[in-house]
Amino acid sequence: MASEIKKIGVFTSGGDSPGMNSAIRSVVRTCAYLKIECVGIYRGYEGMIDGDFKPMDARSVNNIINKGGTILKSARCEEFRTPEGRKKAHEQLKKAKIDAFVVIGGNGSFAGALAFNEEFNFPIMGIPGTIDNDILGSSYTIGFDTAINTVVDVIDKIRDTASSHNRLFFVEVMGRDVGHIALNAGVGAGAEEILIPEQNLGLERLLDSLKRSKKSGKSSSIVIVAEGDKIGKNVFELKEYVEEHLPIYDVRVSVLGHMQRGGNPTCFDRVLASRMGVKAVESLLEGKSNYMVGIRDTKLILTPISEAIKAHTEVDKELIRVSDIMTT
Ligand code: ATP
Repeated sequence: MASEIKKIGVFTSGGDSPGMNSAIRSVVRTCAYLKIECVGIYRGYEGMIDGDFKPMDARSVNNIINKGGTILKSARCEEFRTPEGRKKAHEQLKKAKIDAFVVIGGNGSFAGALAFNEEFNFPIMGIPGTIDNDILGSSYTIGFDTAINTVVDVIDKIRDTASSHNRLFFVEVMGRDVGHIALNAGVGAGAEEILIPEQNLGLERLLDSLKRSKKSGKSSSIVIVAEGDKIGKNVFELKEYVEEHLPIYDVRVSVLGHMQRGGNPTCFDRVLASRMGVKAVESLLEGKSNYMVGIRDTKLILTPISEAIKAHTEVDKELIRVSDIMTT
């Protein structure tokens, strides 16, 4: 594989997700395997502007495949949104003789990489690392599987206490724009209702469903609410609304918050990250640029970043139907 690229930078950017370390490890080890240099860029674009770089060899990523978070740290960086900020970043990369970079992050991080490429004709490759699973061009993003398993674990625990007291729980999960986490974890945890940004279930239907659930003899109910759901009330307002209209219920609220980003990555996320890291480095060395590595039907694919950042992926309609049937 003869290539102009002799040194690759790797960094994590935007919100962190479990499995990012597995992806860093994969990029570093692939570089070592192919006998090219690899440099870790700390704190995403912020560290790129500051020249916060560290050479990484195969041993520098020992024992991180199982660790949540990101050893390279992640950051959001306003300065990189400006041409002046990107110019500074480019100067730092040039000074360090970095020929290309792999960015592990979400839509925003990819948009930044694309702007950088357009200005400096600098080779870039993206790996989707976000718990939201909302990136076009990949059926799965790194961290999603871990996040839904974390949510399911917690809901299983909440169900234990809910059923001991005949309670109704509203559980808020992450998902401002998309309901992948809510829908998948909701089906997996056997939720009574799932409120997602893509569908407005309506308060009346929610009440009807809860009444039916009570009548059918269910001893407890769990309703999963994505942060960005369109019902028009947050989980605390929903609690008040239901208590007012259905006093038979003893309602509780649980907001899962940042625990959804943490924890050891699942085997699925580790394997996915390992595969994507290899593909990202190999693709750069083949002369490709401006792509995001994704997975579809178990095969790795490349999607132009310009396409990947155009929209969010849609939730699976068939899974919504399954969820409706399961709550009978
Ligand atoms: P997450 O899905 O977890 O939010 P993300 O990668 O979408 O991750 P953002 O905060 O949107 O996270 O973006 C990360 C960083 O990418 C920003 O802080 C900024 O430095 C850079 N960035 C985002 N959008 C642009 C853009 N249009 N032009 C230049 N840089 C950008």
